[in-house]
Amino acid sequence: MNVVIVGGGVIGLNTAYYLRRAGYGVTVIEKNDFTDGCSYGNMGYISPSHFIPLATPGIIAQGLRWMLSASSPFYIQPRLNLDLVRWGLVFWKKANAKNVESNAPHLNNLLQLTRELMKDMKRELPQPFDMTEKGCWMLWKNEKTGEHEKHLSEQANRFGLKTIICRPQQVQEYETEVETNVAGGVLYLDDCHVNPGKFMQSLYSELQKMGVKFWLNTTVTGFETANGKINTVITDRADIPCGELVIANGSWLGEISKLLGIKVLMQPGKGYSMEYNGLAENLQYPSILVDDRTATTPIDQWLRIGGTMELSGHSDNILTKRVQSIHEAFKKYYPAMNLPQPDMNKVWYGYRPVSPDGMPYIGRHRAFSNLIYAGGHAMLGVSAAAGTGLLVKEIISGEKASIALQAFDPARFS
Ligand SMILES: Cc1cc2nc3c(=O)[nH]c(=O)nc-3n(C[C@H](O)[C@H](O)[C@H](O)COP(=O)(O)OP(=O)(O)OC[C@H]3O[C@@H](n4cnc5c(N)ncnc54)[C@H](O)[C@@H]3O)c2cc1C
Repeated sequence: MNVVIVGGGVIGLNTAYYLRRAGYGVTVIEKNDFTDGCSYGNMGYISPSHFIPLATPGIIAQGLRWMLSASSPFYIQPRLNLDLVRWGLVFWKKANAKNVESNAPHLNNLLQLTRELMKDMKRELPQPFDMTEKGCWMLWKNEKTGEHEKHLSEQANRFGLKTIICRPQQVQEYETEVETNVAGGVLYLDDCHVNPGKFMQSLYSELQKMGVKFWLNTTVTGFETANGKINTVITDRADIPCGELVIANGSWLGEISKLLGIKVLMQPGKGYSMEYNGLAENLQYPSILVDDRTATTPIDQWLRIGGTMELSGHSDNILTKRVQSIHEAFKKYYPAMNLPQPDMNKVWYGYRPVSPDGMPYIGRHRAFSNLIYAGGHAMLGVSAAAGTGLLVKEIISGEKASIALQAFDPARFS
């Protein structure tokens, strides 16, 4: 049976990997050429530590405060857009403790499943992708943030994750090469990181060897359906027959769903990253600078810094002040590193696929008998990709799913 996957991001490629290994014919349709996109310039974290979904109590008030500052890590471009309004209303309803309590265990299952699978992936993929298994910091400067992070660390322990709560001096002892200026930190030992671009290239080249068919520079523009089934995927280059269809096209998932007459709430959440090479002294651990919502990923002499969440549609406008504030935040935590200001021409951006409750859409959609969704992972696409790929394979083959799927139901807002 031919499974057609729309979208060759990290979710599409991981899905192709597990399906092909199980013997399915797999075709991936990708509108770009596997050189860039949200799955390339991200921070590369595979982080079980991120089990709290995006929609949390207090986030709306925090977001409104951030909206008042041009250099804050969050921005919504004010505009009259019905999809954004619908998305915003659900986000507002879901940003509560009950949602977090019911969804966190499911997110934890997905993240821990992926973390386990990544150990195999590291062995199985012939091209290395710098997977580094040493953990990730949550670092703070504000004591109130510290209290919250310590509380989260206890919750993480209850999920079986190992953490070390550190005072400033202990953080410094771990960071042997660079000066740190923090009020404290939690080291999440189960987290790991990869070079996401290399991970994508490694998967792509392995999938080619495995016989997955790729249609690059090919945009899906419609579908032919009959009797509750999708028979053909229409693209700008050819019509492609499909046995099963997996929609994995990231932040464009809402738009493509409209072609099938389905409402799926999705907003692109733009984030930026910048790179530094050849650093004689570098961080030893990746870190999330919690008060500033900034993230760092070091690999040998290479360092990537990233952050911000902008709900401005698929706009390619770079907001200079917000990019500069990522650099400023870094300086506050690592004051002696003196990294040069980012070159705006080299700043990378990508669109996170953000669902309004912070939970991905994974599962069959009842609108068609052969339609499966795999998307909406927001800031967790890499962290949840392998698990999502395996789950889609299990759904298609009719096996018992490795984890409960109801929290990921793609029709939950339809
Ligand atoms: C600054 C930043 C840092 C991040 N850091 C991390 C991190 O450390 N860890 C983590 O887990 N996640 C991180 N993320 C999030 C992660 O990058 C995303 O969750 C992930 O890349 C989403 O993958 P995807 O495959 O769903 O979507 P995408 O990577 O966007 O892939 C979807 C693909 O579908 C294609 N497509 C769209 N429409 C069509 C169409 N009609 N026809 C054909 N093709 C189509 C697109 O071209 C695209 O290539 C970060 C994101 C940002 C912005």
